[in-house]
Order: sequence, then structure tokens, then C-alpha cells
Amino acid sequence: MDLSIVIPLYNEDESLPELCDWIVRVVTANNFSYEIIMVDDGSTDDSWCIIEKLSAGNPNIKGIKFQRNYGKSAALNEGFKAAQGSVVITMDADMQDSPDEIPELYRMITEDKLDMVSGWKKVRYDNKLTKNFPSKIFNAMARSISGIKLHDFNCGLKAYRKKVVKSIEIYGEMHRNIPVLAKWSGFRKIGEKVVEHRPRKYGVTKFGWDRFINGFLDLATLTFVGRFSKRPMHFFGLYGTFFFIIGFFSSLYLIIAKIVDANYGITNKPLFYIALVVMIIGMQLFLTGFIAELVVRNAADRNNYLIEKKAGLN
Ligand code: UDP
Ligand code: MG
Repeated sequence: MDLSIVIPLYNEDESLPELCDWIVRVVTANNFSYEIIMVDDGSTDDSWCIIEKLSAGNPNIKGIKFQRNYGKSAALNEGFKAAQGSVVITMDADMQDSPDEIPELYRMITEDKLDMVSGWKKVRYDNKLTKNFPSKIFNAMARSISGIKLHDFNCGLKAYRKKVVKSIEIYGEMHRNIPVLAKWSGFRKIGEKVVEHRPRKYGVTKFGWDRFINGFLDLATLTFVGRFSKRPMHFFGLYGTFFFIIGFFSSLYLIIAKIVDANYGITNKPLFYIALVVMIIGMQLFLTGFIAELVVRNAADRNNYLIEKKAGLN
């Protein structure tokens, strides 16, 4: 199969039939063998009903329905797991991304041999204050932290070589940071394509400025995880040991000094307390590292969302 088109969606019933029609028109005109995987992220409108109908009418259209709303990253993650095409393209369901970009994205992966291509909404039809401005800040930070020279990390329209989506796990607000994850997994050939951004035709946006804060926190933890992913103890343990050793030996010195010279310890009482505090800080850092270690070990559980139904898939 040439193409898997993964569409995460939450209450987008009005756009789905039109979007699917358009995608099918483009991919059949280009003779692609394809599948469209719609991941219904716990919609409360008629989205799922429409997906079932579309799937019944076209075996290339498939659906997965979540038990409740888990977020765009979880939806993408599940779509990535199901995808069989050698190129995987993600697209928002609200028709802000144009299916007409599909053939060129496919060409960039297969002929230009890129690992992933990220869309760049150079001209945007979003609210300047709540969307464009926080997005600019986020992108600048993501660029400087990751060293990846993309203008628009957050664009829903992206294309990947199959291997890339099979080797990354996304959760939380991490869908904004997929290029960073891909780079850290060793997929360095990351391209960018200016894509058309269309105004939302139906429904309302599901993301506000607050999501950028979460996205930034994910980026910050990711930076940490990138360097100390397997062993957070190495980071905390190093500083913990440093403080503990200084505290321990200073206390020991002061205790011995008091034994040797009974008056010495009394005049240095504050010093002794400081040494004790330093020792305790060291132990605390150690414990923080230990907790981080536990969190990392449980990290595999973070995507244990429930799937309610599927259409056209086993
Ligand atoms: N979406 C989702 N789960 C959510 C929120 C959004 O699957 O919890 C989908 C949404 O239906 C759309 C895409 O993610 O297909 C992008 O969302 P939206 O258009 O609201 O974001 P914006 O374009 O305003 O940034
Ligand atoms: Mg949108």
C-alpha cells in the first residue's frame, strides 16, 4: 500500500463526508493504493455514525473510536499503529489542510528520500492573539531547543516514512513535537513544505492558548528525557552525591574536631547545621531521582486508552 492518511478528529461530523470525498478524488486521480484511517477521539456528535457509513461504502476508509476524548496525540498514536502504507500522512479533519498537497508530500518522501515532511502554514487564518502569537513563541523555542529548522512544528499536515511513525510513541500534547521525537530517534532528514491553510469551514477550534503551555512543558521534559531518558538517576544522582559527600565529610570533620578539642565544635555550631542541611539536600536529590526512575519505568503505561469500536479494521 502506498499511502495511509491518518485523521484525528473530535466532533467534526459536518466536514467528514466532504473531506473524504476530496481525499478519495485526489488519491484515485494519482493512482495511489491507499487507506484513510479516521480516529474518532471520543466525539459526542454524529462523527462516528458518519465514519461507519463512509467505511461501509468504501473499504479503504477505516475508523477507530475511542471510549472518550484522550487528545489529538493519542488519536494520532493509534492511527500510526494501524497504518500500513509506506508513506503515512496526517491531516486535520476540519478541512483547514488541503488534500491537494498529498501527491507532493508523497513525492518528497519517496523521491527526495526524506524521513518526514512538515507542513508550513505560511499564511494563517487563525486568531492572531490566541493562536498565531503563542505559536510563534512556541516554534522559536522548539527550533532553538531541538536545532531543527522548521517554521511550523504544529501543522497538522505532515508526511512520514512508515518506519518513522512505527518507532515513535506520542502522548499528552506531544503531537506538536513529533519532528523533535523523530530526530532523536535518528530520522534526521526532515523537510518542510509550504502548505495552503484554509479557514475552518465547519465547527469550532478545539485548541486555545492553554494548549501551548502544555506543549511547552512536554518540550521541556522531552529535552530532559532526550539526554537522561533511561537513567534519570544519573542526573539527580550526580548532584545528590555531590551534595551528600560535601555535607557528610564536613559534618564528620566537625564531629571529629569536637572530639579532639571539646571547645571547637561549640564555636562551629552553625557550620555543623549547614553541613547537615547540605547532606539532607543531597539525600533529597537522590530520592527525586528515584521517583523519576519510577515514573520512567511506568511511562509505557501512558497510552493505555480504551478503544470502543472499529470500522473496517480488525
Ligand atoms: N482533535 C482531536 N482531539 C482533541 C482535539 C482536537 O482529535 O482533543 C482534532 C480536531 O478534530 C482536528 C485536529 O485535531 O481534526 C486539529 O484540531 P483543531 O482544528 O481544533 O485545532 P486548530 O486547527 O484550531 O489548531
Ligand atoms: Mg483546525
